[in-house]
Amino acid sequence: MTKDTDILLTNAIVLTMDGHYNIYEPGAVAIQGDTIQAVGPEEVVRSEYTTQNIIDCNGKVLMPGLVNAHTHVPMTLLRGLADDLRLDVWFLGYMMPVEREFVSPDFVRLGTRIACLEMLRSGITCFADMYYYEENVAQATAEIGLRAVCGQTVLKFQAPDAQFFEESLAAAREFIQRWKGHPLITPSVAPHAPYTCTEEILRASAALAVEFEVPLQIHLAETATEVENARNEYGMSVIPYVDKLNLFDAKVLAAHCVHIDNSEIQTLYQRNVGVAHNPSSNLKLASGFAPVSKMIEAGLGVGIGTDGPASNNDLDMFEEVRLAAFLAKSVTGDPTALPARTALLMATRLGAQALHLEQLIGSLEPGKRADIILVDISSLHNTPRFRRDSQGIYAQLVYSAKSSDVRDVMVNGQWLMRDRQIATLDEADLVRQADDYAKRIDAFLIQREKSVLSKLIAIGGALEGESFEVQAKIRIHDPEPVMEALKKPDIEVLRHRHYHEYDTYFVFDDPTQGTLRYREDEFVDDHEQITNVRYRLTMIGLTSERQFPSDVLLSRSRFLAPATHSLRFYREYFKPMSEINIEKDRQRWRILFRGTEFYINLDRVDKPSLGYFLEVKSRTWSRRDAEHKALVATELIEFIGTSAAERVTKDYLELVESENQPLIQ
Ligand SMILES: [Zn+2]
Repeated sequence: MTKDTDILLTNAIVLTMDGHYNIYEPGAVAIQGDTIQAVGPEEVVRSEYTTQNIIDCNGKVLMPGLVNAHTHVPMTLLRGLADDLRLDVWFLGYMMPVEREFVSPDFVRLGTRIACLEMLRSGITCFADMYYYEENVAQATAEIGLRAVCGQTVLKFQAPDAQFFEESLAAAREFIQRWKGHPLITPSVAPHAPYTCTEEILRASAALAVEFEVPLQIHLAETATEVENARNEYGMSVIPYVDKLNLFDAKVLAAHCVHIDNSEIQTLYQRNVGVAHNPSSNLKLASGFAPVSKMIEAGLGVGIGTDGPASNNDLDMFEEVRLAAFLAKSVTGDPTALPARTALLMATRLGAQALHLEQLIGSLEPGKRADIILVDISSLHNTPRFRRDSQGIYAQLVYSAKSSDVRDVMVNGQWLMRDRQIATLDEADLVRQADDYAKRIDAFLIQREKSVLSKLIAIGGALEGESFEVQAKIRIHDPEPVMEALKKPDIEVLRHRHYHEYDTYFVFDDPTQGTLRYREDEFVDDHEQITNVRYRLTMIGLTSERQFPSDVLLSRSRFLAPATHSLRFYREYFKPMSEINIEKDRQRWRILFRGTEFYINLDRVDKPSLGYFLEVKSRTWSRRDAEHKALVATELIEFIGTSAAERVTKDYLELVESENQPLIQ
């Protein structure tokens, strides 16, 4: 007695990727609605199932659709925007500023549609995504018909879709409530990474994921720097740190896990964490080599991801699978490491496990969703085919086949691509719309790159704005008279500090851009011990609007920001023409003189060896106040009595140049 079924796929090489790696040739698959009803040798399935809709697969490989375990699909629109940069410069210098300016629901929908078209063509039927306005990723994906785990991103900084993280968390909650139970979309929360989130965000995200039993997506241990910083900041590396915050109470999908040790692999295994390995992204950003073979040996669900198309730059899973295999071999020095079958398993069943969807997809088994692809291996670059070893088919798919060999794609029982045609998406229109965005983003970046200040603002976040400064710099031979003058009753000392200053000035080829100073202040106590270190960035505009008697200088624009990134980051981001280093020992007094507050700096410039300087300084937001202060400053200088001094209003930089100290690196 035969049973009815909706679709019967026959005459295929059926690669089940099930627990026994069953292969049926010729094999058949019966599909009822959205579900696989039967898988097996063709004569068995045909004897049990009957339908009007029998499809002859002509000897193609019929296998589970590929699972892209980590991506940021709307970033198709940022593909090729900035490449060959270090991760922080790429992310903080380019991606985030452009995203803040351009990412909108429209951007996200368009980027998702482009990505879905590209992914369907490489046989991807399910992907795990993290981005902003994730609701729109979910909508566009569901309309096209792909399956996805969609993660609403949460960050500690302002995001394109939220000023504060509380808004992102609230949006994630609503998003999860709306989409939970959808046949194609699994909603999820995505705290971006431990270094871009606070403890509070990580704890709240985990609690949210646990409450709704949805996956949590995060980037973990992607670079050596991240792990090193975590060790310095938390006294432990990334995995134990997030474990301590109960992150792994949730069903976690962790992208990267490049820099983890054996005990961390054990933690991930015990806490049922899925891992997304991203070979192209890790190679391109030189992030290092994830211990993939060890993770798989330990029993972890390790999938393969393309990562965002801005750091890959494509969404081709065939390429990723091949790279994963090659990389594991090269890194271990063992050509038997990560064989083709395991690599393909990572792109299917293990990937599904990483996404916590193994009950639903990842292999061809009765009861699982009908997410399948047909791959033509009869073309020249796949020829010939040896049948002696039945396992050869895996090597053929991983090492010879290309994504263009994928002819047909079905998701949830629906054909999305037939003979490489995708009826629901208009490719020419998508390309035109993407070009429109590229033109606008180009114009935005060209404008920004015109000025050092606008580049600074682009990465600065909160930046203290332009101010007037009253400044007199006097070269002195002997600091003693200054010290004595400060004891006179006309001067009231409000505070005294002592520190070492290490300044790096970035000089640009266009002098009207001003200079940028990266300053490290080491606060020193009475016993010459460093008590605190502060990093600051100051954009110094062109000097001298007006000069007062006694060489008091009024007004120069200064913009101050805390230097939250490394000197190396700023160097690579701003690309100065040259750099000048100045080191000095500074005694600083905040004083009151004739009702006006000033800073008095007594500097000993050690590098280059320029000797002692007295600086009288005051900063103010109003021009009128600045002019008044400039006059009082003149009196103060007279009062201190630096008659023997060689007065200069030049900055150290100009001095360095005028005295021909060869400091430019
Ligand atoms: Zn990523």
